Amino acid sequence: MTGTAAGARAVQETGWDAERDVELLLAFLNTVDPASDALSSEHTWHQWAASLDLGTPGSLARARSSRDALRAVASAHHGSPLPTAPAMPHGSLRIELSSGVPVLTAGDALGSVLAAAARLAVLGYWDRIKICSAHDCRLAFYDRSRNRSRTWCSMRVCGNREKARAWRERARTS
Ligand SMILES: [Zn+2]
Repeated sequence: MTGTAAGARAVQETGWDAERDVELLLAFLNTVDPASDALSSEHTWHQWAASLDLGTPGSLARARSSRDALRAVASAHHGSPLPTAPAMPHGSLRIELSSGVPVLTAGDALGSVLAAAARLAVLGYWDRIKICSAHDCRLAFYDRSRNRSRTWCSMRVCGNREKARAWRERARTS
């Protein structure tokens, strides 16, 4: 992962791990897929937060709204106009000094996720968080391509399938 010099310094001084933030954010965005939704009940939300060792889960309703808002804007990272994202409620967040550096820290699971998203945004990585364009997939992924041009979570799976579908559609209408 590349970053700015200031970003690299911040990482050194606070022990910040961008990869961990990417993983956490993707895990949260991917709590929903076409078959299931880990935020469908208090029970499954608490299980999810516990499985990642995030402490107090916090409100399910706020987690759902936040996920919907983040997924809505991440869907526009392929270059489409920014949708009117639903309002995003905040998790429990505060700023603390860590080795003399102000850092964002979280008091609950949703706060941890939102802190990760904010850190990635500050260092210019936010637009790399994308939602796969394949309609039956919609997986959130991190675009590691140099020119940030990826559309599908996997070219091999979703990319080829969508290209085949587009080809069939063109063949049918011509
Ligand atoms: Zn996909």
